[in-house]
Amino acid sequence: MNAMRSHADEHRVQMDRGTTVDMGQMKQVVKIYPPGSAYMVGDGFPVRNFIPGAGLGERLSPFLLLDYAGPKTFPPTDHPRGVGEHPHRGFETVTIVYEGMVAHRDSAGNAGTIGPGDVQWMTAASGIVHEEMHEKEFARQGGTLHAIQLWVNLPKAAKMSKPGYQTLLSGDIPTVALDGGAGRIRVIAGQCRGATGPAKTFTPVQLYDLRVNAGHRVDLDLPNGHNAALFVLSGRVAVNGVQTVNEAELALLDQSGARLTIEARKDATILVLGGEPIDEPVARYGPFVMNTQQEIVQAIQDYQAGKMGHLT
Ligand code: MN
Repeated sequence: MNAMRSHADEHRVQMDRGTTVDMGQMKQVVKIYPPGSAYMVGDGFPVRNFIPGAGLGERLSPFLLLDYAGPKTFPPTDHPRGVGEHPHRGFETVTIVYEGMVAHRDSAGNAGTIGPGDVQWMTAASGIVHEEMHEKEFARQGGTLHAIQLWVNLPKAAKMSKPGYQTLLSGDIPTVALDGGAGRIRVIAGQCRGATGPAKTFTPVQLYDLRVNAGHRVDLDLPNGHNAALFVLSGRVAVNGVQTVNEAELALLDQSGARLTIEARKDATILVLGGEPIDEPVARYGPFVMNTQQEIVQAIQDYQAGKMGHLT
């Protein structure tokens, strides 16, 4: 943990001193991770976990969790599956839907339904309770659910701020076509090729939904000093011409370096994650992520006392 922190400091100092980002320096693959544990979230989200997974821990700060749900086909039902009322405090949950429809409502009075191409960015901050369900009509007809949930940490200064909610519909997410029919990038958060993602974030985050067509190559820039990873949902890619990343694998990239190349061996769908590390202590317990154990105890007490509200 300490070694990781001082590593991050080195980069920050480097950036503060001169912002001399060496564009020639490649962001190398550090390690390729298969899924960690597989489990069911409620009765509606069969997931494979990649962050913290088997060994990533907080290495990808500010990303605390990546659960990959499905793809799984559910039979028709009049009783929508999902996960019932539960709390969160201290971070944001980001749900990206590829197939299916997910409905959410929370104790701050926010509700929404998201489908293919849509993203829900829910800021739990000081605390909410919510439910995440298959949308009623989707459940009734049955179909394939395919989604990702990320947990994005909040800096200490924002952990107890007011809860928030952003519905980022597909149409609000800019799409950049890649030269020569290589594919396209949808910019959910951060900036890429002149497009700015609609997500409002507390610390700098890059989140791109990238498709690369078989046989094509894409050059991508990511900030030097940021943590970053590529998660391959489908297909197979070669990164920087050397490392092969297969379907349902996550490639951890080096903090240093600012450029990488992605070459699709098969049509590939990739989630690109990047962010400035939050260099603060992490105390996590279930749905709560704070800075100290004492704050975790407080979160449990506040939830039990009803201070995070109830669904109505
Ligand atoms: Mn939740």
